[in-house]
Formats: sequence, C-alpha cells, structure tokens
Amino acid sequence: MEFDIAVVGAGPAGLSFARSLAASGLSIALIEQQPEATLADPPFDGREIALTHHSADIMHRLGLWERISEEDISPLRDAQVFNGPSTYAMRVDHKISRKDELGYLVPNYLIRRSAYEATRGQDGLTLLTETRLTGIRTHDTHAELDLSDGRQLRARLAVAADTRFSDTRRAMGISATMHDFGKTMLVCRMAHSVPHEHVAWEWFDYGQTMALLPLNGLRSSVVLTLPQRQMQAVLDMPEEAFNRDMENRFQYRLGRMQMSSPRCSYPLVGVYPKRFVARRFALIGDAAVGMHPVTAHGFNFGLRGQEALAREILNAHETGRNIADSALLSRYERDHRLATRPLYLATQAIAQLYTNDTLPARTLRSIALRLGQNFAPFKQTLAATLTGDPVLPPWRGGKLRGAE
Ligand SMILES: Cc1cc2nc3c(=O)[nH]c(=O)nc-3n(C[C@H](O)[C@H](O)[C@H](O)COP(=O)(O)OP(=O)(O)OC[C@H]3O[C@@H](n4cnc5c(N)ncnc54)[C@H](O)[C@@H]3O)c2cc1C
Repeated sequence: MEFDIAVVGAGPAGLSFARSLAASGLSIALIEQQPEATLADPPFDGREIALTHHSADIMHRLGLWERISEEDISPLRDAQVFNGPSTYAMRVDHKISRKDELGYLVPNYLIRRSAYEATRGQDGLTLLTETRLTGIRTHDTHAELDLSDGRQLRARLAVAADTRFSDTRRAMGISATMHDFGKTMLVCRMAHSVPHEHVAWEWFDYGQTMALLPLNGLRSSVVLTLPQRQMQAVLDMPEEAFNRDMENRFQYRLGRMQMSSPRCSYPLVGVYPKRFVARRFALIGDAAVGMHPVTAHGFNFGLRGQEALAREILNAHETGRNIADSALLSRYERDHRLATRPLYLATQAIAQLYTNDTLPARTLRSIALRLGQNFAPFKQTLAATLTGDPVLPPWRGGKLRGAE
C-alpha cells in the first residue's frame, strides 16, 4: 500500500491533522489500534478540555465545533488560584483579556467524536482501524511502516500522533525527557449546591491539589491529585462515601456534592522529546508535547502543532515541492518548540513548587501567588496564554485593560 502520508494514531490530534489536509488531493493512511465503532462513539473519559479562543477557531475551521451541541460547551469566565488552607486567591478575570470569557470547557470524548465525524469519508483518506504499528523505518525517498496484520505500508512522510508514550517515537530512536510526578489525577463530574459562576479553581492545598472546572448548570468537573497510594482508596470508595469525602476536601465551599459520572484516573507524566522530526518523520499531539494538565494546554498545543505542520505541507504540495523536505520539517520543529517549550517548563516548575509542602516552599508559594495577584502585566500575560490571544504586555507596546 502506498500513500503520501501515514499517520499513526486517530486520537483528536491525528484526526485533526488528517482533516487539515482535506481537499489537498494527498492520500493519507490513518492507522488506529481501536475499532472504528469506538472512534464513532468514544466512551466518556472524565477529561473536560479547557480550550483557548484560538483552539476554538481552529476547531471551527476544521468543522468540529459545530458538531458539539451548545449545552456541552461551557464558558470559562474567570479563574482563581488558591494556596494551602487560605481563602486568598489570585484571580484572572476575563476582562483583562478583551474577551467575554477566558475560554471554553468541552468534554474530550465529544472532541474525539466530532473529529471522527468531520474526517470520516474524506477524499483520499484510508482509515485502518484495529491495526497497530509494529515497526517503522525511514529512508531518503520514503518511510516503511509495518502493521500488526502483517501488511506493510509505504509513505512519503510518516507522522506519529500515538500518545505521549509514543511507541513510534521510540521506534524512530527519538529520546524524550520524561518527568513522572509520582501522582495520579482523578476526574469526574459532580453536581453541587453552591453556584460556580463559571469560575475555574486551581487549589494547591497541602498534601493534595484540587481543581474545579465549571460546567453548564449546577455541576462541575472535579479534579483531585494525590500520590497513587492514597488515590486508590478514593477510587474504591462507595459513591456516598466519595461524595462526603469530596465535600470535606473542598471544605464545603461548594455545598452538598453528588457524583454524576464515573471516576476516571490518569498518572501524571510530563514528556518532551529531544526532537519533533527526523528523516521523513514528524511528531504531533501528545507524542510531541506531553503536558501536565495543570495549565490545561495539551490539546491546545496539539491543535496548534498539527495546524503548523499541515500548513507547511500544503504550501509545499501546492508549489510542487517535497512534502517531507528536511528544511520544511525543521521549520515546523522550530516553530512548535518556540510555541511550547516555555510553557512546558513553566508548567513543570509550577507543578513541582505547588506540590512541595516544606516550610520554605509554602512561604514561596504564598509570596508568588500574592505577587501574581498584584502584578497586572503578569496577569495580563497569563490571561493571554489562557485565551490563546497574543496580547502584548506593556513593555512590548501593549496596553493594560483599565489603563485606556
Ligand atoms: C486529566 C486530563 C485533563 C486534561 N485537560 C486538558 C485541558 O484542559 N486542555 C488541554 O488542552 N488539554 C488537556 N489535556 C490533554 C489532552 O487530553 C491531550 O493533549 C489530547 O487528548 C491528546 O490527543 P492525541 O491525539 O495527541 O493523543 P491521544 O488522545 O492519546 O490519542 C492517541 C491515539 O493513538 C492510538 N495509538 C497509540 N499507539 C498506537 C499504535 N502503536 N498503533 C496505532 N494506534 C495507536 C490510541 O489508540 C489513540 O487513539 C488533559 C489530559 C488529561 C489526562
């Protein structure tokens, strides 16, 4: 089988990438280990994805956004960050961002479903489901991919979008820095009696981290991070005991709480590969940048990266140039590294500092939060990061909201 491009992984990044190349005339093979029925109707996985305005725009352009019903898109108006038992919060107000909200919350399983629906049946696309990639070699002229059913596939360019633990990346000999935080994140939906006013919370308590992602109605996605040895007991609790446990952990700030979805859990591991590209090969999605979820940027980066690579490929294809040219791939790598590396490192630092409960760290945590709250340019930059809208800080010619 011969294709222009072979993509490993039909998750939201792989599907969006294939969709970005629709109408290009390029032949694309999309290799996915799961059955097609699961892509068409993915199960709820607990993740509520905070999307920037920029990501929402990309999803509009790809025809994903309109496939998600309005009631499943929750506005994320403001955000507040707490430290320890204190009720003092650093607040990021949407007003600082020139938008009506900082972003949106959309369930991951609906993003997956809409990406499948938008891509299904696309001209030039061959979906190979229930098929695993088992081997890959790239040469000057093409890439060769071995599939679990014994077939072999040739492509001008191979792209891996097969999770942060990408086997394809490993098979290509690309090393990655991995940081295992030694913690597990529990996510589930809960109804609660106190309104959230569409304000997200990140609460770096001592010994645990909690977050609240406000969904439409009197319900939120509740996030709890604990060392794995403590998490198992929480996952195993009967429903009523879990409800009381969460009320207690949230110190009744949300009133009565009632679980309204299954509990899902994820190990926390940050991954950043040494390279995003190799000969006739590129990484996108989590395979390129595996973010800690605390700054909610994994899929935002995934959308951005697939768009950047697709743009390069489309430009080359339209002008009759090589779609796997090494200069093209290097440009993609440079662009995506520049866009992701600073926030990746900042996220690692935040996650490490705010889960360190030693006395000096507690003091530093509190000082940093108060500095953040009172230093307007910092908050404006933070709001711009959350919205995905590049607002220039004053020292680069931007104007502060309220200073006009
Ligand atoms: C708890 C949690 C909360 C999050 N919150 C946010 C948020 O608020 N905002 C945000 O932007 N991001 C968030 N993220 C990150 C976001 O979920 C990911 O960035 C995104 O889902 C990654 O998409 P992907 O397509 O790269 O990978 P995946 O979704 O992991 O898909 C990879 C696909 O590859 C397939 N595959 C793997 N290996 C093979 C193989 N060898 N052969 C064939 N197929 C293979 C898999 O079956 C899968 O379908 C969160 C993540 C977690 C865990």
